[in-house]
Amino acid sequence: MTQHAVVIAGGGPTGLMLAGELALAGVDVAIVERRPNQELAGWRAGGLHSSTLEVLDQRGIADRFLAEGQPAQVAGFASVRLDISDFPIRHPYGLGLRQNHIERILAGWVEELGVQFYRARDVTGFTQDDTGVDVQLSNGQRLTGEYLVGCDGGRSLVRKAAGIEFPGWDPTMSALIAEVELATVPELGIRHDALGTHGFGRREYEIVDGKIVYKDVGPVGVMVTERAVGATDEPTLGHLSEALIAVYGTDYGVHSPTFISRFTDMTRQAATYRKGRVLLAGDSAHVHSPIGGHGLNTGVQDAVNLGWKLAQVVKGTSPDSLLDTYHAERHPVGARVLRNTMAQVALTRQDERTKAAREAVAELLAMDEPRKRFAAMMSGLDIHYDLGEGHPLLGRRMPDLDLVTANGPQRVFTLLHDARPALLNLGEPGGCDITPWADRVQVIDAQYAGTWELPVIGAVPAPTAVLIRPDGYVAWVGDLTQPGLADVLATWFGSPTARG
Ligand SMILES: Cc1cc2nc3c(=O)[nH]c(=O)nc-3n(C[C@H](O)[C@H](O)[C@H](O)COP(=O)(O)OP(=O)(O)OC[C@H]3O[C@@H](n4cnc5c(N)ncnc54)[C@H](O)[C@@H]3O)c2cc1C
Repeated sequence: MTQHAVVIAGGGPTGLMLAGELALAGVDVAIVERRPNQELAGWRAGGLHSSTLEVLDQRGIADRFLAEGQPAQVAGFASVRLDISDFPIRHPYGLGLRQNHIERILAGWVEELGVQFYRARDVTGFTQDDTGVDVQLSNGQRLTGEYLVGCDGGRSLVRKAAGIEFPGWDPTMSALIAEVELATVPELGIRHDALGTHGFGRREYEIVDGKIVYKDVGPVGVMVTERAVGATDEPTLGHLSEALIAVYGTDYGVHSPTFISRFTDMTRQAATYRKGRVLLAGDSAHVHSPIGGHGLNTGVQDAVNLGWKLAQVVKGTSPDSLLDTYHAERHPVGARVLRNTMAQVALTRQDERTKAAREAVAELLAMDEPRKRFAAMMSGLDIHYDLGEGHPLLGRRMPDLDLVTANGPQRVFTLLHDARPALLNLGEPGGCDITPWADRVQVIDAQYAGTWELPVIGAVPAPTAVLIRPDGYVAWVGDLTQPGLADVLATWFGSPTARG
């Protein structure tokens, strides 16, 4: 039996991000992954929202993604593009980059951090008690961990074996997605009809003036909505041909698929993200239609919310109850994503009345205030954790300000590269004594002359001091002479007597 502090089931985007967060904190973490390597059959996610780029920037790895992807205005609601180029943020755009590349880059980072992988095997079951979790693998191996995190996708074995309910709504649509060769290639692009949305594209593309321009060569990607909902069998070339003929009157001589898969708008969320020593993150905790491109982005951000909390609990600096804040903060975020995707699916139906509703929504979204609100929601920039009343920054993402420090100019996000909390003192230098937390929280004396601005909310009063959590959210705003900071430090980063 091999022991790790944390075992992660599933090395997709969520599991990889979580492993990186734990490894940065010095936690012994291992990933069990079914696939023999990081190669991904199928296309799945097509990019990153700006809030995910911020998270990656906070770890110093955004450039790896930016170097390979294509910045573009990708936020949208029910097919209405929402421009965020005027948002007061470092990355006022999304990034077109396919999931196979996102996973490859994340896996490279995680490997640099020394995370152990157990590849080509499944987690097949587990038992948990007060001291830990005993995890069984398909090759007969057993691993023990203090905690097990199910990042094993929508059909999560971990969720099912933990007995966590997955309530929600059955699918109302079903589509096949495939990469194939065609004897005759039709016009590439999206088509809508009474059945739904269909389209042809190519693996390689460029974004020119905000529009996708496919390369002339290479395999063709097909998406075609099926007539019936509810198929449970593995999709075949025969199914694809049949679905194409139903929509286009021909299958264009489809052959040589590299993958064929099916997706639906099934919408479900785990009733709880934690049961004892077992936690869920990513698709194992929430599934929904791909419309709006939220799944991968939400999973990566679940991982960043959970990582530092789990690390502190494992290291003994924080009580186990800190993990309850993971559910408290991320379950509402997931529920909102579910609601959004359902609204979008409803609005993209093709009957005349839904078309009229969509046009009315598009008119609303052309107005500045609704555009900003929906764009912030759709790109994850308006997330607000309920940390009580106070300054507008409290519970919101910390802006990436250009600071002046004793060591010269420094961006706020650079302070978070090691996933350590930061107390930013913008008042009198040296006015801050947090000695009991000195091993856990960095204190930075800095100056900032610019305005403080948040997406949608706009300008906010300049604070004298801000406590930033490792996930980039603001835990406290105030004046260092005010009481209360010690309580907040203890809540988030452990009691004064704990050792980091
Ligand atoms: C057509 C389509 C388009 C999409 N477009 C977007 C988009 O544009 N933007 C976006 O953000 N999201 C998009 N998504 C959603 C996105 O692909 C998922 O949300 C994302 O992959 C979830 O990541 P995850 O790591 O939580 O789960 P997964 O990616 O499903 O990873 C789970 C991992 O666990 C492994 N695994 C499963 N069971 C076990 C087991 N028992 N033991 C060991 N390993 C196991 C699997 O092999 C896999 O590697 C799209 C999805 C589809 C289908």
